[in-house]
Amino acid sequence: MNKIVVNNANLRKLMEGNKRYMASHLIHPDQSSERRFELKHGQHPFAIILGCSDSRVPPEVIFDQGLGDLYVVRVVGNVLDQMIVASIEYAVLHLDVRLIMVMGHSQCGAVQATCNHNQLEGHLPSLTFALNAALNKAKDLPGDLTENVILANVGLVSEELKQTGAHFPEMMKKGELVIVPAYYHIDTGKVELLT
Ligand SMILES: [Zn+2]
Repeated sequence: MNKIVVNNANLRKLMEGNKRYMASHLIHPDQSSERRFELKHGQHPFAIILGCSDSRVPPEVIFDQGLGDLYVVRVVGNVLDQMIVASIEYAVLHLDVRLIMVMGHSQCGAVQATCNHNQLEGHLPSLTFALNAALNKAKDLPGDLTENVILANVGLVSEELKQTGAHFPEMMKKGELVIVPAYYHIDTGKVELLT
């Protein structure tokens, strides 16, 4: 993973922003009216973040980025479905974004709810369905079940994206696309890259 960090300028830019955030040395880049004006002709974000809808994990804040920098897809439990894959494919294939980060986080309430086997209301059983593979992978592991499911889900979602995104396998083979699993620690603000 260190090799990717060293060689990937976009990932380095993300992680440097996260370091500033952790140290409370935010520079709030690209948030001026000039930047807004500059973007009226189009967007060229340098990274895609697939993250959870949790109010404590807003990518622009935790990576200290601004307008037009990040293409963000947020959904409870950072799971995948067809529209989410389509959203990511749009950014890769039409906006030429070459880095995808799949970011889970500590204390994910959505995963917790699924692990507790609560009778879930409304459309929430579809979340359980989306997390089922991670739940199966993690259920016999030692340690905290919720944390294990969060980690398993990030890995499985990254793998699924690698395999199912249109043109993603060949792009990755040619080094034109990088998909990075990551885990955000709510208490410290650190984004940890997972291998
Ligand atoms: Zn969450």
